[in-house]
Amino acid sequence: MPKTSKRERANRDLLVTNCGQLVTLRGAAPRRGKALGELQIIRDGALLLRDGRIAAIGARQKVGRMAESRRAEKIDAHGGVVLPGFVDSHTHLVFAASRAAEYEQRISGATYEEIARQGGGILNSLRKLREMSATELKQRARENLAQFAAHGTTTIEAKSGYGLDWASERKILIILRELAREQEIEIVPTFLGAHVLPPEFRGDKNSADEYVELICREWLPRVAEESLAEFCDVFCDRGTFTIAQSRRILTTARACGLKLRVHAEQLARTGAARLAVELQASSADHLEKLTAADVRALAKSDVTCTMLPGCCFHLGLSHYGPARKLIEAGAIVALATDFNPGTSPTLSMPMILSLACTQMRMTPAEAIAAATINAAYSLGRCESIGSLEVGKFADIAVFDVADYREIPYYFGVNHCVLTMKRGRVIYSRGARTSFSPKGEE
Ligand SMILES: [Zn+2]
Repeated sequence: MPKTSKRERANRDLLVTNCGQLVTLRGAAPRRGKALGELQIIRDGALLLRDGRIAAIGARQKVGRMAESRRAEKIDAHGGVVLPGFVDSHTHLVFAASRAAEYEQRISGATYEEIARQGGGILNSLRKLREMSATELKQRARENLAQFAAHGTTTIEAKSGYGLDWASERKILIILRELAREQEIEIVPTFLGAHVLPPEFRGDKNSADEYVELICREWLPRVAEESLAEFCDVFCDRGTFTIAQSRRILTTARACGLKLRVHAEQLARTGAARLAVELQASSADHLEKLTAADVRALAKSDVTCTMLPGCCFHLGLSHYGPARKLIEAGAIVALATDFNPGTSPTLSMPMILSLACTQMRMTPAEAIAAATINAAYSLGRCESIGSLEVGKFADIAVFDVADYREIPYYFGVNHCVLTMKRGRVIYSRGARTSFSPKGEE
């Protein structure tokens, strides 16, 4: 067999074949109501990839007969389930350390808000992040990105918000920018300067407004000038930022050219979801404390409702977000991990699917669509990722199960065996679905 150089191999077409269920999610985006459960599965399918994009998709017999397919390198999915790579639209990727001690405190009875008042919680993460070097933070984040890939995730949104002084917030956003260049997973950066009030601004009652003014007058223009973030997020909740403060930050961010996301209605019902609707934010996240009228308002809007069941699970709460009601009302529902060291230390989207199904009564099909195409929509990327269609990026996750429903069904077990980003293998487990460098079979 003639030897091929690395360059020749990179330019060569790839055929992903023997896909027991090829879950395409083709069709209009975003998905609302009944359409959320329509996965558009091709049984015994194949995909032809060229230059990082999908060149052909369909039944194995048909795609396999194409001349290009016969010449292509082959990847055998061994009859497994093939999905679009997960799009994790809410993470706090860059942090310094776990908060396992607080986890134990909570198990022993302290609430999240009590721990926060004692200087734990986000302030604990803030102290450690400010002290840690960018090199060390980046290395930790890089290791976590490899874990995201191992669980089938190919795109993540990632927020600042554990720095809360300009130098530290910028440090996080620069790390995200560098990681986006240096490794394969796509990273969508979000500025979350209004995560909590930093210690320097706690004390008299006007300091919160002073901090908001600092964000609006100095930080947001700099974020925009250096193109450090695509989105601005605000933690608008009891004990964090008020509706008025959040409105001021978000409208300023929009004027600076940033798109908007909101941490809304997690700890208490404050009206943050309505604010997201009013400002036409891309996403309102958490939403555990929504009223029936909030559900109706969100359903009429184009705001994606991003549910974060990992957070409720880790905090041991029995009340999860009303995903079912939102879906039935016609809202755009997405799922994300909320990967962070305090309230949701998981980067496993398969685990999030399990929680969505068992705790929020989403069907496995709805959960998959929420974690792919609708999450891509919330990040402004549903034209290029989130489904497997000709012309879209070849972002693909292969699971060694026979049926897509088995992905959430086997909770806590990762069945992802192969992950590809833009046609390149970024994760491959074991020999069963090994990447074959051979040209022909
Ligand atoms: Zn969050």
